[in-house]
Amino acid sequence: MDAVQSAPPGTALYVHLPFCAAKCTYCDFFSLPAAGQDLDGVLEALLAEARMRAPQQPRTVFLGGGTPSLYPAPAIARWLDALDDLIGWRESATEVTAECNPESLDAHKAEALLEAGIQRLSIGFQTLDPKRLELFGRVHTPAMSFAAFQNARSAGCERLSVDLIYAAPDQSDEDWRRELETVLLLAPDHLSAYNLTIEPGTAFARWHARGDVQSLEEEVELAQFHSARDLCRQAGLHAYEISNYARPGQECRHNIGYWQNAQYVGIGPSAVSKVGNRRFGNPRSIEPWKRPVLRGESAAEWGEELDGPARLGETWWLGLRLGVGLSAVEARERARWSPLDGEPDRAEATAEELLGQGLLERDGERFRLSERGLPLADGVGRRFLAP
Ligand code: SF4
Repeated sequence: MDAVQSAPPGTALYVHLPFCAAKCTYCDFFSLPAAGQDLDGVLEALLAEARMRAPQQPRTVFLGGGTPSLYPAPAIARWLDALDDLIGWRESATEVTAECNPESLDAHKAEALLEAGIQRLSIGFQTLDPKRLELFGRVHTPAMSFAAFQNARSAGCERLSVDLIYAAPDQSDEDWRRELETVLLLAPDHLSAYNLTIEPGTAFARWHARGDVQSLEEEVELAQFHSARDLCRQAGLHAYEISNYARPGQECRHNIGYWQNAQYVGIGPSAVSKVGNRRFGNPRSIEPWKRPVLRGESAAEWGEELDGPARLGETWWLGLRLGVGLSAVEARERARWSPLDGEPDRAEATAEELLGQGLLERDGERFRLSERGLPLADGVGRRFLAP
């Protein structure tokens, strides 16, 4: 593929560290069990890719994966220092996040990550039920999740997030409420609660196709969605996005950028970037990504130009996920495109139609999902995308 466009200073940076202790049964991210893999080689290649095309002075940096906390802290610290020499993130970034898993966040690691400049830790609890942890292929216990959380707090982390999954097979609303209440007692600053989705190619999808696991009934899933909203609100965490809750000021700025359809650069295998009007992505495999970047060449294996109407549609699709919603003017600004004078704004017309159907509501100029539209967010958002 042709050389990729470089992003303007300040653009958000995502770094994909692809290794995990084991592969979770529901996960379709590009991630591999770490045993026998060349962990240092990936860090070296990430730096080579950063040298080519990471944005200068990024506003936010997000280490995701995979399990970034699986790396030894000194290796992450050295890598972040080298990245700072290249792009000066220490001066510019208002938020630096690392995703962590309980089995690799002991007290020493938590301290060292904060010392290295990471400000925000996001810990994958997923569930507190030991049987469900096993079903999910997780390698930690609930006790390890609590310990990781306390380790992060004791190390001085003031921006601590917990990830949970609901709508698992056989999970009742009472089960879910109990788990969530227990997690909220820890007083996390942020919480992500995603419903379990069955992704093609995962172990879960195979079990589901064989009839070994059943999807949860829709009514139970809906009850769990509302339970999450109620319990989080009572705990002082507002729903700033469909699946994300935060204390005021603790929202994830990096992810808000995605929902506002801002530009971002992703480095690492499988990472996607959006720069200007172009979206492109790296291979979901280590070697085909590593070889070109070590030669100083782009690893991107696919790319697409997004025209004005496509950008506008995506801006609505993403923006309606946010609790504050968006106005038609904001959508056009974020998409950097408006219909020609005299031509209708089709996206705004779709929003008016959804308003009429009771799936959106209006607050001044802003549209947002109504109570009825909230659980149908995906379907509602897709109405803005080209068929
Ligand atoms: S730890 Fe996260 S990235 Fe790794 S396999 Fe599990 S869900 Fe996927």
